[in-house]
Amino acid sequence: MKTSRYNHFLPRGDGKVIAFNCRTGGLALMEEAKYQDYCHLVSHAEKIESLSRENRYGELISKLKAGRFLVEDQEDEVAQLELKNRLDRFDTSLLGLIIAPTLACNFKCEYCFEEVKKGHMSDQTVQALIDYVRDKAKGLKLFSCTWYGGEPLLRMDLIEKLSHAFMDMCREHQVAYGAAVMSNGYLLTGEMASRLKGLQVSGVQVCLDGPQRVQDVKRPLANGKGSYETIVRNLIEVKDILEINLRINVDRTTTKEDFVELLDDLEKNQLKEKIKLFFGNVEAANEVCINIAENCYDNKAFSKVEVLLHKIALDRGFTLEKLPAPLTFYCCAQSINSHIVDPQGKLYKCFNDVGIEERSCGDVRSQQDPFHPNLFPFLNWNPFKNESCRECSVLPLCMGGCPHRIVFRKERQENNCDSWKFNLEDMLEIVCQSRLRARAKAKERSHHG
Ligand code: SF4
Ligand code: SF4
Repeated sequence: MKTSRYNHFLPRGDGKVIAFNCRTGGLALMEEAKYQDYCHLVSHAEKIESLSRENRYGELISKLKAGRFLVEDQEDEVAQLELKNRLDRFDTSLLGLIIAPTLACNFKCEYCFEEVKKGHMSDQTVQALIDYVRDKAKGLKLFSCTWYGGEPLLRMDLIEKLSHAFMDMCREHQVAYGAAVMSNGYLLTGEMASRLKGLQVSGVQVCLDGPQRVQDVKRPLANGKGSYETIVRNLIEVKDILEINLRINVDRTTTKEDFVELLDDLEKNQLKEKIKLFFGNVEAANEVCINIAENCYDNKAFSKVEVLLHKIALDRGFTLEKLPAPLTFYCCAQSINSHIVDPQGKLYKCFNDVGIEERSCGDVRSQQDPFHPNLFPFLNWNPFKNESCRECSVLPLCMGGCPHRIVFRKERQENNCDSWKFNLEDMLEIVCQSRLRARAKAKERSHHG
């Protein structure tokens, strides 16, 4: 027996220690005395087998084994992760498409990366996309579809047409189908949400940059008018129809006061219990948004702000989304069967490349060339070739970070490390509190149900 290389412990100062394993996501609250026993085991690793027969250690050892805080001597955890990473990335039984029926948008955000290409998907492209999915449907286990843009709800007619075709095909071939939508929230009325629900859309991701006075300046409508009031009114209408993930965009201009004001308003509008919050680090990802680069945090600086925002939101009783959890790979760009489809039917691997035709890696009208040169930066990306990643104690939470940053933006390795690399200790208390609260809520629900 040996200790997992992905164990993290945080003494809380109240006689308890938080134990977290990055590979399984297992979290436990240990008595300090048990933690001391664990430390004893670590310093007598060669004797763990014989100690497991002693009363004092036996139960602790079996719990640590169950949570994979202790693993077998012959286990190579990095090799196991690498194999799982390969299996999942090259699994062709899953199809993931992120589809932009249009890149047009009713907003004019200061940092938007969707530069030109205002075209909508033509009837011919819609048909070619349906044929493309039909071609792949046989043999699939799951097809997951995300509607994005531009603002996808500007072309709800196309979403409906494509969704019906996809749902029919999946039914015919017994493929599980699920969908989500990324929207700016302006057109997302209750009526729209019900239509989306009928199309097997289960959740929506909406972004806000802050309270009204901030949102209306940073994310105004294309005609310059404010967007906040309508979005919040829509969220109230939608809250019992779709799952809402609210992304709060954060940059150096975001203040604590802005954030608290936003939470106050969400609470006042009875949205607190109905949304899940997460924080997005606004990035100057390509030439289009280079104008906002000086307002952007690097990952290390963002990780500190992120802890503060999580703490405030948790103290206020909001539910947090995207807490540190194990991944098998970093993003959909690394998966062989995931693509972004633009309105012309061109395929891309990464959001940042959409609309840049020379970065496209195929077209729904033709067979995918498995050796297309634009696939290589993503499919050949392998964090296990990088010594710092192999040695990293948060590798299962990060999986090497974003290939686009390294390959195209030539970022320093450090700026590719996920924030958990820098803030995991501080986040453990937040994860612990969140889980305790979720458990209490579930208990309350089962009590009342
Ligand atoms: S490669 Fe990076 S920027 Fe592109 S989708 Fe993945 S995480 Fe996002
Ligand atoms: S990119 Fe950084 S945080 Fe991520 S696995 Fe590699 S070394 Fe660890």
